[in-house]
Amino acid sequence: MSNLPPCPKCNSEYTYEDGAMLVCPECAHEWSADAAAEASSDAKVIKDSVGNVLQDGDTITVIKDLKVKGSSLVVKVGTKVKNIRLVDGDHDIDCKIDGIGAMKLKSEFVKKV
Ligand SMILES: [Zn+2]
Repeated sequence: MSNLPPCPKCNSEYTYEDGAMLVCPECAHEWSADAAAEASSDAKVIKDSVGNVLQDGDTITVIKDLKVKGSSLVVKVGTKVKNIRLVDGDHDIDCKIDGIGAMKLKSEFVKKV
């Protein structure tokens, strides 16, 4: 039992197998054990604000004014950013912006060009 993955919804460790499915007794979530294994081994797909899949090297524009953490700078809406790099984390885009420098963006605030 201890080698089953925790519930992806509520993180409960008390998941159990029911045929090909895994079941969480705490939130009643059911999911496929195969899909769970795939999701954890594959790189996750990062999408922009309208659902386009983003890739390393893409050019994006910023869709809302974004404050740069720790400074008074603002990345203005419509700012074009070339050659993005996808990374893991809350801010999933690593990039360099003219006049600002290296920073991280959230994919939900950008749109692929
Ligand atoms: Zn659960």
